[in-house]
Amino acid sequence: MPLLVRNDPDEPFDYEPTGAPCSSDVAKRATLTKSAILTAWGRIIRGRKPLLSIEITKECPLQCPGCYAYEPEHLGETPLRQLSDYRGSQLVDGVMALVRRHRPLHISIVGGEPLVRYRELSELLPELERMGIEVQLVTSAVRPIPAEWASLRCLHLVVSVDGLAPEHDLRRAPATYSRILQNMRGHQVIVHCTITRQQVLRPGYLAEFATFWSERPEARKIWFSLFTPQTGNESAERLTNDDRARALAELATFPKRFPKVHLSKQVLDGYRRPPASPAECIFAQTTLCLSADLATRITPCQFGGQPVCTECGCVASAGLAAIGRYKLAGLIPVSKIFSLSRGFGTLLTRQGEHQV
Ligand code: SF4
Ligand code: SF4
Repeated sequence: MPLLVRNDPDEPFDYEPTGAPCSSDVAKRATLTKSAILTAWGRIIRGRKPLLSIEITKECPLQCPGCYAYEPEHLGETPLRQLSDYRGSQLVDGVMALVRRHRPLHISIVGGEPLVRYRELSELLPELERMGIEVQLVTSAVRPIPAEWASLRCLHLVVSVDGLAPEHDLRRAPATYSRILQNMRGHQVIVHCTITRQQVLRPGYLAEFATFWSERPEARKIWFSLFTPQTGNESAERLTNDDRARALAELATFPKRFPKVHLSKQVLDGYRRPPASPAECIFAQTTLCLSADLATRITPCQFGGQPVCTECGCVASAGLAAIGRYKLAGLIPVSKIFSLSRGFGTLLTRQGEHQV
């Protein structure tokens, strides 16, 4: 997971969380917007959240400066390190019970560092693959990624990389560049960089990053998101409005210059106009985020605490915000339909609860 910044979640334009057996990237992209929206919409109407995000462990061997997962406000009352988490068959059974109960279309596995639980994941991931559930696993690649995971077609490995080697190695030791390059060998990963103020202040830095990873055969895609601050956070990573505008102007040129950079116009637009609050964030409203005890909810979104939505740089939120602005039949924005459906779904669920 990135620095202050484990916002590596779902790239909604890159795969289709339909629950159907995973197919090729091209086919997935071609059908995403219509069918994924409709499938998710169906779940929402039935009072369900179609996306699930799980902090699969509270452990992490890294100490990234400003990591929000271990900030006291992340989970509200109990800090992440004080939760009781699971391992072994208890973890495998616990996650599968959640999957059977919530029937998500897509799961994000984050941590802590998920690879700490690689043995359990080696049981879970093939099972989720059999169920046709798309899984995004966000890791620092601090230890070798098991070779057999390379054959899982529903698995999207996202490796968090905090800039070029000198900066990354300082922030993320022991997950240094030389180590992660070794640990991702044999895999095709999505490299994810969360843009911070320090990077924006160095002209050409982002392009250098894109150049480096474009040339690496292990990187099949490159994602950029923007640092999302917590209320009251005045860290060196926080972008000013000018920084943000400058970064977005530069990023807009990347897809043509660097074909591995996946950043659609819609996502860029989402970054330019983030939701004003969690209530307006389709991503927050459609994702159930659970912490390492598999019970504690992380609210209002995977960041926990009190994130500043108006400075949100989460790629999933940006992508879904963009989808939300589409107008069905040229008239009604999708976000309105989602919001009405959510209200209807909640009502149905409550009625169902009363009837039990
Ligand atoms: S790798 Fe670990 S310390 Fe670093 S941001 Fe992720 S959870 Fe936090
Ligand atoms: S807009 Fe707000 S609620 Fe949505 S992902 Fe960003 S910080 Fe979280």
